[in-house]
Amino acid sequence: MGERANRYASLHRLAETIAICLFVVLSIGCAWRLAGAAPAWAFAFAALAAWLATDFFSGLVHWAGDTWGNGETPYVGAWYIRPFREHHDDPRAMTKHDFVETNGSSAIAGLPLLVVALAAPVDGPLHASMAAFLFFLALGGLVANQCHKWAHMKDAECPPLVRLAQRARLILPPETHRRHHARPHDSYYCTANGWTNLPLERVGLFRGTERVIGWLGQAEPRRDP
Ligand SMILES: [Zn+2]
Ligand SMILES: [Zn+2]
Repeated sequence: MGERANRYASLHRLAETIAICLFVVLSIGCAWRLAGAAPAWAFAFAALAAWLATDFFSGLVHWAGDTWGNGETPYVGAWYIRPFREHHDDPRAMTKHDFVETNGSSAIAGLPLLVVALAAPVDGPLHASMAAFLFFLALGGLVANQCHKWAHMKDAECPPLVRLAQRARLILPPETHRRHHARPHDSYYCTANGWTNLPLERVGLFRGTERVIGWLGQAEPRRDP
């Protein structure tokens, strides 16, 4: 790795570390602001809806990274697209990543959601539930890649409680995610809990969107051989 690439990597890590710290501070602010602003059942419903939405967005982001551009694409190639492509070649590499490498990008993506949740009105249960949805969506986004990492871990590496949550399908089960790792890696993109994988395949969202983008932009979706 050259000096410039080294500097780039350390800048990336610094940005991810700062984002995780900011994420923690803003999350405490959100929880403080929302406490008691709506009944517990409304927050439970917001959390469930956010966990479902997290799975959908995890699939959308993953599909975009797998399908469009390459590692040289300006702005997003090195940070965003390349890790998706490298993951197909070496799925177990991510199980060696530390906390910052696993969760840094998700923390960066979640910061705008936390800012909006902090600025949104919380007067009344409806407004508070909507702000809570954004807060839980940011939290869900933060753990989605961790759930993906757990799905690639062997039994001996994975905490028993995590295996239990996988079996209960509260988080992504390894056998569900294995379907994405069959070449050409063009299905089952969702990595938080896997709930939306089958419905999205049934409605053909990704193939349909590829056809629309291909028609509008004269672009060919990329596929692994
Ligand atoms: Zn993929
Ligand atoms: Zn994977």
